[in-house]
Amino acid sequence: MALDRETLNQFISTLDRFVRERLIPLEEQVSREDRIPSTVIDEMKELGLFGMTIPEVYGGLGLSTEEECQVVKVLGRTSPAFRSVFGTNNGIGSQGLVMDGTEDQKAHYLPKMATGEIIGSFALTEPDVGSDSGAVKTSATADGDDFILNGTKRYITNAPEAQLFTVFARTNPDEPGARGVSAFLVDADRPGITLGPNNRKMGQQGAHVCDVIFENCRVPKSAIIGGPENLNRGFGTAMKTLDRGRLHISALAVGCANRLIEESVAFATERTQFGQAIAEFQLIQAMLADSKAEAYAARCMVEETARRRDAGEDVSTEASCCKYFCTEMVGRVADRAVQIHGGAGYIADYAVERFYRDVRLFRLYEGTSQIQQLIIAREMTTGATV
Ligand SMILES: Cc1cc2nc3c(=O)[nH]c(=O)nc-3n(C[C@H](O)[C@H](O)[C@H](O)COP(=O)(O)OP(=O)(O)OC[C@H]3O[C@@H](n4cnc5c(N)ncnc54)[C@H](O)[C@@H]3O)c2cc1C
Repeated sequence: MALDRETLNQFISTLDRFVRERLIPLEEQVSREDRIPSTVIDEMKELGLFGMTIPEVYGGLGLSTEEECQVVKVLGRTSPAFRSVFGTNNGIGSQGLVMDGTEDQKAHYLPKMATGEIIGSFALTEPDVGSDSGAVKTSATADGDDFILNGTKRYITNAPEAQLFTVFARTNPDEPGARGVSAFLVDADRPGITLGPNNRKMGQQGAHVCDVIFENCRVPKSAIIGGPENLNRGFGTAMKTLDRGRLHISALAVGCANRLIEESVAFATERTQFGQAIAEFQLIQAMLADSKAEAYAARCMVEETARRRDAGEDVSTEASCCKYFCTEMVGRVADRAVQIHGGAGYIADYAVERFYRDVRLFRLYEGTSQIQQLIIAREMTTGATV
């Protein structure tokens, strides 16, 4: 444990109150305006939410994976767009630096990421490079003490707000696969970087995604995560980063499932048909019970995997099992929640309509469900991780 039990419990109950009293009442407004009020972002900064997983020595809370999952489960009870604001600073936007950065790189960026002064984004995906992420085409060409970046990164979360990009680019043009890729820390205000327009999305309004375009963007060799000796080792950094991120998304899915179940029980108890509350119909009860049982199973697997990771075990396969099961689970729970609400479930006044769209993303990013299946099965059949 990074925090003592009492401090952690206090933090969780403060967050629980913040979610219920501050964030849930704003959900509809944020969705409609596609914007999270800056006062709320300031409150998130004060709570320390931008630096939950950044080590204490750099000003973060230094939460263990188990603690992070407990906290994220609480945050999952409200629109995932809120979590997305600080999600990259705790996950894919900072962890490459935390795990593989040099001391100088960490001291330079992490304290400002922990306070939320710097927003970090993770730029791996490209127009032609998605699941096959080792096939990165963005080029980084050596030029004296610098590299020159050219290429387009696609669907980059928080890019419109970011001050720092972790960019994966090909430093060895003769090596077409993962072994020719390096990870660079690139300040967003460097010349040669432009952003595309914000993508219009199915859900999670308030969280922003766009293209990041590099045109002759010059970065020093010292910008390689871990320094120049980590040349061509960036893909390993990406995979380690995504491992922890998979547990984060899994815990988030469990939190969202809990909220959807809460909404479903409240509606089923209130709504009457045929002269009785619909909650008394066994077919409705079956849907509630299936959702509860699946959410409970998901919670248990996340807790166990997080604990084992904190104990130093290699949990790559189990993290993929969690990401696969938990994100598919919340899709089923959301679908049942809409069904239990009847026609109301299709109407935007009800939270379940929005959550149904919001949680769809979890099965797609940070490795689709099919990619998780491949990772799990490959380890089972060959003992090799991918
Ligand atoms: C809102 C949003 C935010 C995102 N944020 C980020 C971000 O911050 N940083 C970032 O780098 N990326 C980000 N992404 C990109 C995301 O990670 C990719 O979209 C995802 O990895 C899938 O890649 P793709 O879209 O190219 O789909 P593809 O890889 O083209 O996949 C299309 C379909 O084919 C399947 N498929 C592919 N390969 C195989 C295979 N070998 N076997 C079986 N099926 C396969 C996939 O599962 C999927 O069903 C984001 C995406 C979205 C939508």
